[in-house]
Order: sequence, then structure tokens, then C-alpha cells
Amino acid sequence: MSQRVVVIGAGPTGLMLAAELALAGVECTVLEKRADQPNLTRAFGVASRTLELLDARGMADGLVARANVVPTAGLNAGVTIDLTRIPSRFNFMLITPQSITERTIERRCAELGVRIERGVELVGLTQDADGVTLSVVDADGPRTERAAYVVGCDGAHSTVRAALGVEFVGRENRTPITLADVRLTDAGTGAVNAAVSPEGVALLVPFGDGYHRAIVWDRRNDHLPMDAPLELTEIRDAFRRIAGTDHGMRDPRWMSRFLSEQRQAARYRVGRVLLAGDAAHTHSPIGAQGMNTGIGDAMNLGWKLAAAVRGTAPSWLLDSYQAERHPVGARVLRLTDGLTRAALVRSRPLLRLVQLGMRAALSVEAIRRHPRGLVSGVSISYPPHGEHTHRLAGHRAPDADLPGGRLYEQLRDGRFLLVTDDPGVADAARGLGDRIAVVTAELPADLPRTVLVRPDAYVAWAVDGPVPAERVRRVLTDWCAPARDRDATTTG
Ligand SMILES: Cc1cc2nc3c(=O)[nH]c(=O)nc-3n(C[C@H](O)[C@H](O)[C@H](O)COP(=O)(O)OP(=O)(O)OC[C@H]3O[C@@H](n4cnc5c(N)ncnc54)[C@H](O)[C@@H]3O)c2cc1C
Repeated sequence: MSQRVVVIGAGPTGLMLAAELALAGVECTVLEKRADQPNLTRAFGVASRTLELLDARGMADGLVARANVVPTAGLNAGVTIDLTRIPSRFNFMLITPQSITERTIERRCAELGVRIERGVELVGLTQDADGVTLSVVDADGPRTERAAYVVGCDGAHSTVRAALGVEFVGRENRTPITLADVRLTDAGTGAVNAAVSPEGVALLVPFGDGYHRAIVWDRRNDHLPMDAPLELTEIRDAFRRIAGTDHGMRDPRWMSRFLSEQRQAARYRVGRVLLAGDAAHTHSPIGAQGMNTGIGDAMNLGWKLAAAVRGTAPSWLLDSYQAERHPVGARVLRLTDGLTRAALVRSRPLLRLVQLGMRAALSVEAIRRHPRGLVSGVSISYPPHGEHTHRLAGHRAPDADLPGGRLYEQLRDGRFLLVTDDPGVADAARGLGDRIAVVTAELPADLPRTVLVRPDAYVAWAVDGPVPAERVRRVLTDWCAPARDRDATTTG
């Protein structure tokens, strides 16, 4: 039986997932229908939590060094969001073209031996108890392939999702989005700036390489055909009406128009086939969430699917991908829908009211923390697994300094990490296979004495006081021991 996983789509989600599978020692092939690698700059904002996840694999510092670090986001309603208050090592929004993020992850795929086949399109699939049969077409014509599992990371118009018959629940947004990457005569503050008026929304994002991304939701374009010709004059005119200035836009290197959708797949898993990234959820780019959520999906799924392929997954583990990530996708849809609706209010008095309300609310630090946590991804957490769970269980792991390096540095080989100051706990963990790295060290006073961190940098289990060896073994066996070692114990 094939133990190979085939990932469909070499976007940021598919590449990240492939790298995670390869890191866990699973054979993985990526099929990508495009033969070329266009320098597409769809996503530009890499959020704090995504940088933490990339840091847990050694990819963040290189990306940050080459990109534009933006510490604030401003709205013309007089609201400035201070991103330096995000409780993260990466307390900013990183602005870099999506193609650069993709190349960074792709380099890691190459290091880990992932096979990426370009110019190969998936056209259909069927599955049985032992695996999945894929129908693909490349330059030589049609053929079939076999895999143990298939993951559809093939974007919003996913062929995998269609082949599964999974419903993509939601609707199309009404106002098209117009985009241009331009130089500016008047570059302003260098921060991300949004202007909102009853005419629409105009957003300006600095790439840091002399170009800015201009994005417009122009209410005058409601129901405009997507193939209507696009000139820079249209974008300049929209900026003058909405933001009061066109910043002297010139020299566009790229322009586009599209209509976004708000949709989520009803299920993320059907048997041996799973969905991730835009194939699982798609929404307005307002809030810069799509690529970030896709990379989060991939980190969540990678180690679970690898464990399923290698026979080390408890029965509940692979289904926890949907249980954990479907609510995150739903939350992103609510956030982007809310932002879009608030921004595209037609009536001037109502818009003024929304802006005043936002200004008042965001002047309170306790309230500001909520949108900052949502947009930066640092408030994403998962329901804890097991009984008697600690307050940290399911939350992102703290990046504590440990002997031998920061906690996130010590996650880089993709294993579970058990940190404890109790030699008895450390001894109990040894001998439970190579999937757990053990660090005997004292954590800072505000953290528990023992913490088990999942490969995706979330806390699996934690305890404040002493813990019997038998309980340690039970918990670790439940999370990560080979199936033959696992009995019908429950986590405690
Ligand atoms: C204007 C704009 C701005 C954005 N800004 C941000 C932002 O700042 N931050 C953010 O996080 N997100 C942003 N996004 C969203 C982000 O671009 C997407 O969420 C992201 O690209 C999704 O990644 P993905 O890998 O899931 O899918 P995709 O990037 O769509 O990749 C899917 C891949 O699958 C391939 N494929 C499709 N069908 C098949 C098939 N049948 N066989 C083989 N291959 C196939 C495609 O060719 C493609 O390469 C923005 C989007 C837009 C449009």
C-alpha cells in the first residue's frame, strides 16, 4: 500500500504542508497545474502568529530581514492601531509579496526532499479503504496515481473539494476590488493606511522596495463586469474621492480586478482526503487573513497527517484537524465580513457613527487587545484535549528561554517538546520513542513546572505541581506513542 501523501497546489498552504510532512519523514509529492512560477503579489501581510510558526521551523528571521516591518496601521477616522503592543517576538505586521513567502517555504521543501511537479493538473479522484486514486493530466496526457492520503490545497476553486462533493457555503461579495502596485510621489508616513468614505475604501500598503500596493473597494463599481478594462486613472480617481489624495501614483508594475467571496467548506475531511487553505475557506482580503490562515491550517494538519501515515496517531488526532481549524476559519470569515460591512457602509451619517464608535472603542487598551489578537493571530487557541486540563492547554506555547536556545528554536525538528524541572517526569518520558524531545529545565515563575508542546507550537498538556510518572506516561502515550503502545487510557 502506498504511504505517500499527494498535496494538490503549490501555493503557500500546499508548500507549508509538504514541508511539514517531509520534516516528519513522510514521502510527499506536490502537484501544481501551473508550469510557471509567476511573481504574484496577492498576499502582502504576514501576521505575528504566522511568523511565530515560521520561527518554529527556522524560516522567520530570513523573511523578516528581507521585508518591510510595519509597527502601526492607520485609519482615516483618526484611529491608529499600535501593533508593537502585540505580545509576541514579532510585534508588527510584516509586509512582503506572497511570492517571497512562497519562495522561502519552497526552499525549505527542497532541503527536505519534497518533490514538486509543475504542469500537472488534478482532474478527479476516487478513494477506497486503502488509499486514493488520482486522475491527473500533464504535457504527456492523462494518467492515474495512487496515494495514501490527498490534501487539496488547490485554492478557492478547488477541484479536490468539487470531487468530494463538499459544499462551499457562503456568498459572493458585491463590490469588486481593484489593485495596483505603484510608485508614489507623496509616500506619506510609510505605515499601512486605510481611508473609508461612503464612496468606498482605499488602502495603501508599503512594500518597502519603492512600491506601494493600492487597493480600492469603489462603491461606484458595484456589479461592474470583471473583464472591464482597467487603467491607473480609475484607481487614482477612486483614491482622490475616498482618501482625498492619489499620492501621485505612477509606474504601475501590476494591476488587477477581482470579486472576493465569503465561503467555507462544510467539511475539511472526507476519509483519506482533506482540504486546507483557500480550498477550505475564502474571504475578502480586508484584514490580510487568507495566506496566514492557510499556513496555520498546514501547521496544524502536517504533524497529525504524518502521524496517521506512520501509524502513530491516536484515533481522534486526524479528526481534530477539522475540530480545531474549522472554527478558526469561521472566525476569520466573521472578522473579514464584519470589517467589509463596516467599511462599506453607504450612508454618510451611519459611516460617521461607525467611525466614532470604533475610535471610542479602540481608545480603550482592553478593547484594542481583541482586534489586535484576531488580526495578528496570537489569540487563536484550540479546545483542550483530555480531562483536568491546565489553563495553557490549547494555547500557543510561550517562547521561553531554555538551556540550548529558545523554546521555538527547540521545536525546529518537528517533534513534541517536553519541558520540565522534574527529573522524574523527564525519566518517564524517555523511552517513549523518538517523537518527543525532553528538556530538563526550570521554566519562568509564571509558567507551569511541566509543559508538553505539540509540534505546531501549541500546548498539549501542562501541570503546575508534581506529577506521578504513571500519569506522564499515560498522557504522552495518548498524544504521541505508536498505536501498538497505546491502550484504552484517557488523558488526565
Ligand atoms: C488582493 C489580495 C490580497 C491579499 N492579501 C493577503 C494578505 O495580506 N495576507 C494574507 O494572509 N492573505 C492575503 N490574501 C489571500 C491569499 O492570497 C490567499 O489566501 C492564499 O494565496 C491562499 O493560499 P493557498 O495556498 O491556500 O491557495 P492558492 O495560493 O490559491 O494556491 C493554490 C494553488 O493550487 C493550484 N491548483 C489549483 N487547482 C489545481 C489542480 N486542479 N491541480 C493542480 N494544481 C492546482 C493553483 O495553480 C495554485 O498554485 C490576499 C488575496 C488577495 C486576492
